[in-house]
Amino acid sequence: MFGQYLKNFDSREMMEIETEYLVVGGGIAGLFTAWSAYEKGAKVTIITKQSITDSNTDKAQGGIAVAIGKQDSPAMHMQDTLIAGAGLCNESAVKILVTEGVDRIVELIDLGVNFDLAGEGIALAKEGCHSQARVVHANGDSTGAEVIRGLRKKIAETPEIEIIEYQCLVDLLVEDKVCYGALVFDSQSQVFRIFKSSVVVLATGGIGQLYEHTTNPEVATADGIGAAWRAGAELMDMEFVQFHPTALALPGAPTFLISEALRGEGAVLKNVHKERFMPKYHAMAELAPRDVVTKAIFNEMTNTGEDHVLLDITHLKPEQIQSRFPMIVATCLKYGLDITRQLIPIAPAAHYMMGGVKVNIWGETNIQGLYCCGECGCLGVHGANRLASNSLLEGLVMGKRIAQNYSSLLTDKVKDHRRFVSNKLKTGSSCNYGEVRSGLQKNMEQHVGPLRTAAGLSKAVVWFDQWDYLDHYEVENSMEIEVRNMLTVGRLIAEAANLRMESRGGHFRQDYPKTLTGWCKHVSLKK
Ligand SMILES: Cc1cc2nc3c(=O)[nH]c(=O)nc-3n(C[C@H](O)[C@H](O)[C@H](O)COP(=O)(O)OP(=O)(O)OC[C@H]3O[C@@H](n4cnc5c(N)ncnc54)[C@H](O)[C@@H]3O)c2cc1C
Repeated sequence: MFGQYLKNFDSREMMEIETEYLVVGGGIAGLFTAWSAYEKGAKVTIITKQSITDSNTDKAQGGIAVAIGKQDSPAMHMQDTLIAGAGLCNESAVKILVTEGVDRIVELIDLGVNFDLAGEGIALAKEGCHSQARVVHANGDSTGAEVIRGLRKKIAETPEIEIIEYQCLVDLLVEDKVCYGALVFDSQSQVFRIFKSSVVVLATGGIGQLYEHTTNPEVATADGIGAAWRAGAELMDMEFVQFHPTALALPGAPTFLISEALRGEGAVLKNVHKERFMPKYHAMAELAPRDVVTKAIFNEMTNTGEDHVLLDITHLKPEQIQSRFPMIVATCLKYGLDITRQLIPIAPAAHYMMGGVKVNIWGETNIQGLYCCGECGCLGVHGANRLASNSLLEGLVMGKRIAQNYSSLLTDKVKDHRRFVSNKLKTGSSCNYGEVRSGLQKNMEQHVGPLRTAAGLSKAVVWFDQWDYLDHYEVENSMEIEVRNMLTVGRLIAEAANLRMESRGGHFRQDYPKTLTGWCKHVSLKK
């Protein structure tokens, strides 16, 4: 099962592109790594599966958590992160995140990213589980898009960094635990080609598309994790998927994120009978950790027999709501909902992957020359549950760290004329990949969602078994590449979730509802 490559190829017979430093992904992690590597003297190539604006980063609303407020400190930010992480955070990594994060935000500002201001300084918002207002944001609720805009503008002025769009990573060229580059599918010319590179940085983002209901865009299909797994990389914490409590649940509208920042501004959750319920579940009420709010919402949905609850921000003046959340107001209005007057129907949706490719504090994987950062990597900073707005921060901090090691790590692998061959796969599986994709999303939603049981997880694994035969067939296009990665990673999430016989953070087992001291450890997966 799971051979090293998804495609038959012979590198000597293919178009080869040589690059010093290959970054796969153009979200915050990829762009910031690329910029930082350029500053260290590298010539960088960034490839992205779709257009550069198709990423989780582009959709990020709330902002970036950073301890710059007068009453705040990195130690307090660290404490909040550890509490949200439910005992599984890598403490030394969290310390790096919260301390180095301050300088990374200053660098973003120097690079031209404009954060919202309040009075003389930067505006700081409060979000769930944060003891302080510490979330910097841009254009109210469009932080990610502003970060991408600022970084792209700078990169466009820098000839040493090239962005090539519509290039889908298929597989990593790895021999004897050393990475030499990547096999890539150009979806515009429909051609497979080789990128040879001394350094490959995976920054391919999240996995939300594995679920029927997700806040993530179409590109979030776990490709980097799938390719890394096939190449022999170790994975960690795969059972920890974060379900955001408040995604729009309006018939006919997309599963659009209704940012936690609304609750930070005092919005309250009510069941369909308009009764506020969070105070009875947690002392922090609406600002409790995400997993607590998600479970409470599920409970209320079950008790009322409805598929949603309601979020009420009408205590604020319409003009305040409009200026703080312009994008959310406009999007809801597009679907006929005026959030300045009406309650917002919401339900939980798959949002963020805490697990991923296991890395150390320099972003190194167990494969030489292969690095990973952002949502597809797992350093353990988020533990079992990510603190709101810590993810964009991680992309910045780890991107910088990977690049810092650049000159000392560079070996001249591009000049190595090693041949890579894959020739054992069959062609023409006649599988309907579109149907597999939607079946997989249903399977994951039903059995590997926020509420899990051994019986459900076993059913999920059995569902995956029926597609094992596909491992013997090669892929032909982006859709097939994505579905194969979704099958690989979905199965690994289900298997890891089945192993962890307790509940912790984002992983809730109805058959093992308690958090157990004996399980205060990570699940690492090796091929
Ligand atoms: C709606 C929403 C709101 C959020 N709000 C916040 C927030 O306020 N604060 C916060 O900290 N976090 C937030 N998050 C989480 C955060 O946005 C992400 O975790 C973060 O942006 C991930 O960044 P990244 O660079 O790792 O990946 P992404 O931004 O997802 O970028 C991934 C890149 O990889 C590319 N890629 C994927 N597969 C391939 C392939 N096979 N070949 C080539 N390229 C590929 C994609 O094209 C894309 O360019 C939010 C997420 C969502 C979905």
